[in-house]
Parts: sequence; C-alpha cells; structure tokens
Amino acid sequence: MKIPKRRKLSKEERMKVYEKCKGYCAYCGCALEYKDMQVDHVNPIRCGGEDDISNMLPACRSCNHYKSALKPEEFRKYLSGIPKRLMRDSIPFQVGERFGIVRIVTDDVTFYYEKIKNKNRNRED
Ligand SMILES: [Zn+2]
Repeated sequence: MKIPKRRKLSKEERMKVYEKCKGYCAYCGCALEYKDMQVDHVNPIRCGGEDDISNMLPACRSCNHYKSALKPEEFRKYLSGIPKRLMRDSIPFQVGERFGIVRIVTDDVTFYYEKIKNKNRNRED
C-alpha cells in the first residue's frame, strides 16, 4: 500500500499545533518542549485523515510511537488493554499485584485534549 505524502509544516503551522495544548502532549498530558513535539495526525493519513492543521495534535515521542497509525478510538482501546496484558504477560506485575505493591487503578482512558476541552466547556456554562 502506498503511503500518502505528508507536507512539511512551516514554523508558524508547527507553532499552531504546539499551542493547541499549550505545551502538553495531547494524549498523555506530559509537559512537552516545542523542540520535542511530534505532530500527530489524529485520524491517520493512511486511514484517509487530512494532512491539515485541523487534523493535527502535539504529541510526545512515546504517544506518537504507540498511537502509530491508530485512530483515536483504536489507540484508546490499545491503552485500555494494558492492565490485562500486564496481568497476563508480566510475572513481576502479577507478583506485585498479589502483594499489593502494584494496583490497576483504571482502564478508562481519557486523552488530555479531551480533558481540556471539557474544562473549557464547563467554564462556558
Ligand atoms: Zn504523550
């Protein structure tokens, strides 16, 4: 399958993407330096997503790597499956869980950009 070309963003466009989450990764919410930002295509180009600023979010290297060519809901599902995978595959995790050292807090994933969108919505109410 041919991968569609991405155009190179201008400095102004990159800054617009960076400003969307005011210096945080759109997915995990970690603090993100401009120089370390990776531009994520929310709906991957491979899946027909637009190569347009409206389809771009700032991401840390790790989130961009794990999201890869997944759509947001597929990425959420992947993340939600981490506790089950750890319980199945990681003996240190299983032992730690049995001894009460580690604990699964939730498998409910809310992306940072969704949290800040909700916060702004509440402010408008
Ligand atoms: Zn991240």
